[in-house]
Amino acid sequence: MSPTYRNLGILAHVDAGKTTLTEQVLLAAGAIKSAGSVDKGTATTDSLAVERERGISVRLATASFDWGDTTINLVDTPGHVDFCAEVERSLQVLDGAVLVISAVEGVQAHTSTLFHALQTMGIPTLLFINKLDRLGAGADEVLEEIRRELAPKIVPLDAARDQGDADARPVPLWPLASSEGVGEMPAQEPIIEAVVEGEEPLLDRFLEGDTPSVEEINASLAAQTSAATLYPVLMGVAKNGLGIARLLHAMTRLLPSAPGQSDAPLSALVYRIDHHPRWGRTAGVRLYGGKLEPRDLVLNASRGTTEKVTQLKKNRTGKAEDVPFLEAGDMGLVCGLASVRVGDVLGSSDGVPTAARLAAPLLTVQAIPAQEDQFTRLAEALHELADEDPLLDLELLAEQKELHLKITGWIQIEVLEAVLRDRFGLVASFSSPTIIYRETPSGSGFGAESYLMPKPCWAVVKFRIEPLPRGSGVTFHSEVGVNDIARKYQNEVEQTIDKALLQGPKGWQVTDLKITLVEGEDHPIHSRPGNFKIATPMALMNGLVATDTTLLEPMLAFRITASRDLLGGITSDLSQRRATFGSPQQVGESFILEGRIPAATSLDYPVQLASRSGGKAKIFTRLDGYEACTLEQGRTTPYRGISPLDRARWILQARGAMRD
Ligand code: GDP
Ligand code: MG
Repeated sequence: MSPTYRNLGILAHVDAGKTTLTEQVLLAAGAIKSAGSVDKGTATTDSLAVERERGISVRLATASFDWGDTTINLVDTPGHVDFCAEVERSLQVLDGAVLVISAVEGVQAHTSTLFHALQTMGIPTLLFINKLDRLGAGADEVLEEIRRELAPKIVPLDAARDQGDADARPVPLWPLASSEGVGEMPAQEPIIEAVVEGEEPLLDRFLEGDTPSVEEINASLAAQTSAATLYPVLMGVAKNGLGIARLLHAMTRLLPSAPGQSDAPLSALVYRIDHHPRWGRTAGVRLYGGKLEPRDLVLNASRGTTEKVTQLKKNRTGKAEDVPFLEAGDMGLVCGLASVRVGDVLGSSDGVPTAARLAAPLLTVQAIPAQEDQFTRLAEALHELADEDPLLDLELLAEQKELHLKITGWIQIEVLEAVLRDRFGLVASFSSPTIIYRETPSGSGFGAESYLMPKPCWAVVKFRIEPLPRGSGVTFHSEVGVNDIARKYQNEVEQTIDKALLQGPKGWQVTDLKITLVEGEDHPIHSRPGNFKIATPMALMNGLVATDTTLLEPMLAFRITASRDLLGGITSDLSQRRATFGSPQQVGESFILEGRIPAATSLDYPVQLASRSGGKAKIFTRLDGYEACTLEQGRTTPYRGISPLDRARWILQARGAMRD
């Protein structure tokens, strides 16, 4: 029988014990002989030098092992808020997740962020309450907090004994495997009730006095967990290896196995890129269908290229080992694909789920080499890093010798500095980051261009530009017949729009607008391919100057939980930061306040709130669209490169680029 695969992620707020738990899981499964320690810098999955130094995980690392006849690919995801883009990318390839929550700190800001993401993407999740041994551990309070702040339907399968003590341990309340022989447990009734509640036929039987068997309850528990409608809660002391075997049972019995047919055509997603000193670029892939073998020629559907697989590897026992094949459902490393980038689809895209957008970089920074003559090397290094993390969206301005990057937070700068130093031997600094604004037309208007000189050329276009509601994006329609502008030229217009809108008159990406091609003409003799690509940005930019544009700033949805005495201070602070919020909801001695706040006024707020409240307040935020702001509240940015408004130079440059 071929093995079944489970691709699972362990996620947590930083310091909850994710890496420690991963080590213990590998140890319990016999994949490693002794558990490494994050405190000593010997953890198997903390691979980057910067991670070991700082004791945090910043890059994804997978570890594969077998538990029974299941192959588990464990993805150790980064725990810091700044790396949510990376977390999001890893979520896409998961069949299930374990969310680790500290029994002392409880639900933290990033716990909420992660749980929200898991819920949005419908990923089956086990909750693991860790650190029962630490002073101040309170598993019951944490369960209450989970119900209140994460608000899922949960079913605790363990209880905690001797909390806050070196002897602390989890006690199973329900047998997940027949070998566990839990016997008569006092708390079985609530578990049965929680499970039957989610499955009507079982509930009917239960209400008629017919209690379902352990096997029936387990089957229903697994089905509801896999549907992400019910969340089992387990407990343990990762540091002492307690609760680990049971977690492994839950992973293999309650979380779903990976779907996919090995005899189907190849369908795989590249979810990470690494650089290896000997093998060069390695692609971390998840297979949704088909099979990969060394020497296979694979089509990169995203790039339209075909490249040859040289080696296939899997990370076992912390080292990459050669494997003869990778099949549907599995994950592994592919060597030999020199031009592959993160997010690429190999083979057919049929089985590959579409990515959910949760994180987006909100900040832009400029990278500056310590020595000017290292500009080219820095550009090359950042280019390579941007292939590994496309959200960095590297912008190279050759003429101005400027390098611009998009980032999600401050820590990312530190990590970039360290990676440039350790991997590329480069010293670089970064400008202080600024918010990435957008812009949208302030009203309706027209933009036209007659590109008739210098010959040979002929492209006449006129666009109507109209604003659309927030979040609409860009739409394009043509009212011009193919007798006026041939289909191939209309295609040029359409293909150019996205790029033309990357920088508006205020220097930011233009969005939420309707563009209509209302008039225009080509010329049977003078029109050349590419003419409409040159004319379109000029016409659109003229139009946007005519309609004028309004700045849009990124907004965050927030939820603050704090003790009641802090309410007045927090609301006045929020008002000063231009936040909007509803009325506070009282929960015991605390309140919960929800609302929206501009990213620009709140980047430092979580840190300030924590320090000013002595840790008695916490805030959870997530990106929540864009809103109009005034020029004073936001800022413009200079056009990077040559603007289409600078007509003569724009034409010259565009024609030059087309000849290349
Ligand atoms: P991560 O940031 O989520 O990966 O957490 P780590 O695994 O790096 O652990 C953070 C700290 O908590 C380390 O000092 C661990 O030794 C410690 N730790 C992890 N699990 C436990 C536990 O069960 N009990 C106690 N007391 N400490 C733990
Ligand atoms: Mg870690």
